[in-house]
Amino acid sequence: MTKSRWEAVIGLECHVQLMTASKSFSASASHFGAEPNTQADPVVLGLPGALPVLNRRAVEYAIKIGLATGCEIRRRSRFARKHYFYPDLPKGYQISQYDEPLCEHGTIELAVGGVSRTVRLTRIHMEEDAGKNLHQAGSAFSLVDLNRAGVPLVEIVSEPDIRSAEEAAEYMRTLRQIVRYLGISDGNMEEGSLRCDANVSLREVGTSELGTKTELKNINSFKFVQKAIEHEIARQAALLDAGKRIVQETRLWDADRGVSHSMRTKEQAHDYRYFPDPDLPPLMVPGEWIEEIRRSLPELPAQKRVRFMSEYSLSEYDARILTEEHALADYFESGARSHGDAKKISNWIQTELLRELNRDERSIEQCPIRPEQLAELVRLIDGGVISGKIGKEVFAKMFASGESPKQIVEREGLVQVTDTTAIEAAARAALAASPKQVEQYRAGKTSLLGYFVGQVMKATQGKANPQALNEILKRLLEETR
Ligand code: ADP
Ligand code: MG
Repeated sequence: MTKSRWEAVIGLECHVQLMTASKSFSASASHFGAEPNTQADPVVLGLPGALPVLNRRAVEYAIKIGLATGCEIRRRSRFARKHYFYPDLPKGYQISQYDEPLCEHGTIELAVGGVSRTVRLTRIHMEEDAGKNLHQAGSAFSLVDLNRAGVPLVEIVSEPDIRSAEEAAEYMRTLRQIVRYLGISDGNMEEGSLRCDANVSLREVGTSELGTKTELKNINSFKFVQKAIEHEIARQAALLDAGKRIVQETRLWDADRGVSHSMRTKEQAHDYRYFPDPDLPPLMVPGEWIEEIRRSLPELPAQKRVRFMSEYSLSEYDARILTEEHALADYFESGARSHGDAKKISNWIQTELLRELNRDERSIEQCPIRPEQLAELVRLIDGGVISGKIGKEVFAKMFASGESPKQIVEREGLVQVTDTTAIEAAARAALAASPKQVEQYRAGKTSLLGYFVGQVMKATQGKANPQALNEILKRLLEETR
């Protein structure tokens, strides 16, 4: 793409489902994937007289994400009713927070292509999810599933500080990583536990005034965050280049066709008639509780990355991969502690271990090899008990069976032959079996050394110590010259 006249300005509004056992304001379970309408109750159904009771765990989780992103936590916040009519919302309003949100003024740090950016967060407020309308092809009516209604959410609203589709995607990845580290959400976009609306506008490079924005809804997969925004930037740039104006509107992203279309313009915008929910008193959060939650926060990915780089002398690239998941970082640290050489453990994890896990679509939690066993395997190679090549075979067997490397090495007789008499005998046998090649070697074709090494390795099932074998072969070939 040629350098555009236009600079993209993007602000994201992300919804994160909180993994509480029960709903925001009632005791129904809030699991994903249950039989339709098995998780509804009078509060969710909006039956007259049913009163909401706030879920303490949901507040705790919302405070966690607030603290993890450096927000101020309001000691007093308020729930408000946001009114609209839709079949998946039987009450006729969603409980949200409006002018007094729980968390404000945080930041999320990004690094994209070597450039770091601080994205300011306007606010993080609590709200409840709505149900789901199910439209079946060919059916004359739609169905409503209220299992999701009342599931606790936080909405994280960013300032318009994001400058490209790539940064927006990185923002989403960072956010997902933080909520997963905190253990408050699985951040799964495909299942809807992380959703985002993207506000996009353009302005002439070098100017600071905000342009007219559009809001992109329905970006429901990680794959499409970047694509949907790129598409919108290109659409707006084409309009502006043609001297046209941008219409402020909400657009729906159609992932199947890779395009967006207008859903409603500003004139059709809702008036939600927000007002404080009279059924819920103001939420008062004691300072001691905030401090208790702060102390319970895990080390976050960015901090862990920096620590891994200084404590284990890892490159930023390695540190980034190893801190991708909390459990992977723990695995690495246990292995590094058990072995002592963090770099070696990091290499084994990044090459062999992650490849095997990815192939089987297993998470690190489902890894059949314990970190101590990986460390033991690397020690066997360090000590010359097995060769590096055999080490990879042993690794594959460990991964398949969960056995310890020593067990496998002993049972299968894989111990490296370092006994020079034994290696020499095998080398002599190999030379005797290939007189023609020996002659060629003697005539100056020394590249044949590799061939002899291969023959001996074949005969010893790869167990000959390669260094000793090389020396012995060279000596024997010189002798007979
Ligand atoms: P609205 O009144 O349409 O809800 P808000 O000011 O509440 O807009 O902002 C909603 C989101 O849109 C925020 O994430 C904000 O950063 C972003 N935003 C606001 N104005 C712009 C703009 N001109 N371009 C891009 N994003 C914007
Ligand atoms: Mg707004």
